[in-house]
Amino acid sequence: DDADVKIDEDVKSPPLAGPNVMNVILVAAECAPWSKTGGLGDVAGALPKALAKRGHRVMVVAPRYGNYSELQDTGVRKRYIVNGQDMEAHYFQAYIDGVDFVFIENHIFHNLGSNIYGGNRIDILRRMVLFCKAAIEVPWHVPCGGNCYGDGNLVFIANDWHTALLPVYLKAYYHENGLMQYARSVLVIHNIAHQGRGPLDDFSYVDLPPHYLDLFKMYDPLGGEHFNIFAAGIKTAYRIVTVSHGYAWELKTTEGGHGLHGIIQENDWKLKGIVNGIDKKEWNPRLDIHLTSDGYTNYSLETVNTGKPQCKAALQKELGLPVRADVPLIGFIGRLDNQKGVDLICEAIPWMVGQDLQLVMLGTGQPELEQMLREMENRYHEKVRGWVGFSVKMAHRITAGADVLLMPSKFEPCGLNQLYAMCYGTIPVVHAVGGLKDTVQPFDPYSESGLGWTFNRAESGQLIHALGNCLLTYREYKSSWEGIQRRGMMQDLSWDNAASQYEEVLVAAKYQW
Ligand code: ADP
Repeated sequence: DDADVKIDEDVKSPPLAGPNVMNVILVAAECAPWSKTGGLGDVAGALPKALAKRGHRVMVVAPRYGNYSELQDTGVRKRYIVNGQDMEAHYFQAYIDGVDFVFIENHIFHNLGSNIYGGNRIDILRRMVLFCKAAIEVPWHVPCGGNCYGDGNLVFIANDWHTALLPVYLKAYYHENGLMQYARSVLVIHNIAHQGRGPLDDFSYVDLPPHYLDLFKMYDPLGGEHFNIFAAGIKTAYRIVTVSHGYAWELKTTEGGHGLHGIIQENDWKLKGIVNGIDKKEWNPRLDIHLTSDGYTNYSLETVNTGKPQCKAALQKELGLPVRADVPLIGFIGRLDNQKGVDLICEAIPWMVGQDLQLVMLGTGQPELEQMLREMENRYHEKVRGWVGFSVKMAHRITAGADVLLMPSKFEPCGLNQLYAMCYGTIPVVHAVGGLKDTVQPFDPYSESGLGWTFNRAESGQLIHALGNCLLTYREYKSSWEGIQRRGMMQDLSWDNAASQYEEVLVAAKYQW
């Protein structure tokens, strides 16, 4: 329909042509919509499409965790040795929105349910070793649209520790044997907190020559000397990307680097921060399918002044809260994990319920935090709702119906919910950290600029202070409020922008010897 066409016309920078057109293969342990536990899955599903729109030949390689219906069997089967065991990789494929999606089949990827990182450390390690080995050879063996990509003019994009072995294998098995001489690797850090750590003995599982052990050896005061896959990938990749500028900086600090700050400092020359884009088909108040029933409505910049209040009333009704246009409605959406700062919200609730406001929190995760949400709803039933569950529909409806979105994350590599919120005219109040700091410029009443409210330390007093200022503006300064909404909604947060920055990194990797 014409709405979709309009989105495709939104491309800002012109597609590349000529010598810089590349073959790009993104390799990730998860890829939406087939598999997703968080932001990584969204990136693997969306960035490749945006790169393909710019003229590159683009493939995604992911494990085949389930019996995905839209795939074709390529008939290609290859065998790889994993820790002395001969294992088969069987390749499946689909071509969707200009991207080749290739899935690697082996029984070790089965029966994980939604817990794709389940099993013991060695199980996961064996899965990722097979996956990386089988992914590197896709351009040799798997024909896409009739012909294989080949290894000339090729850049791999590996993601997080799960595929951080890929840059190492590219060097050890191929480059050092005169193979794949023109292929390059880029490693993206979505979250440094998970690194593929283990005892040094884990080296025996990755099948590398003995002199490679040093690449993996790490020392830190807590873990002592240990084996670290992310460290080896960071050292070996030609370029490194992380998902915001703020996080790129934090990775080099003792607190933010989770033990890898030294390695990242040494490799700073090849590190770049690129903020994730968002899927403008899924997260767009004008097209959002979750706003087409139950009293909600689609809206845009032109109709936000009527559409958003209608969504707010529908949300209040759906949640069983008093339907009032004048009361500020505050939302929280996210994994109930210490990372997300839910404890700060809980500490602030006694202050919040003393105000004329409404609060809705949606999330799943740690049982004690889930319990806390239920308790808050019970205790403050006139004002607070705690929705324990994973509901994409509710996430969209809260994003549309709330006036304010709270994100007090302790750390946040990029963060997507604040981006969604701004597209919907919902004003973010965030801890100024990582991607939140990059994307939410604080409101300045003197210059009437900025996109939301921020606070600098993860403390409930600071959250209360920022939220207090936000609510004051909501109540007393309507034109300032509408200005913030408008600036948020007018931003280009699509993947097109991020894809052109990724392209620069790929080109830099290609010419690096
Ligand atoms: P992370 O990757 O750390 O989980 P992000 O903000 O990058 O955080 O992405 C989280 C994604 O998961 C967002 O799309 C968010 O809307 C979604 N999400 C998180 N919790 C829920 C929930 N309970 N119900 C629906 N969607 C959720």
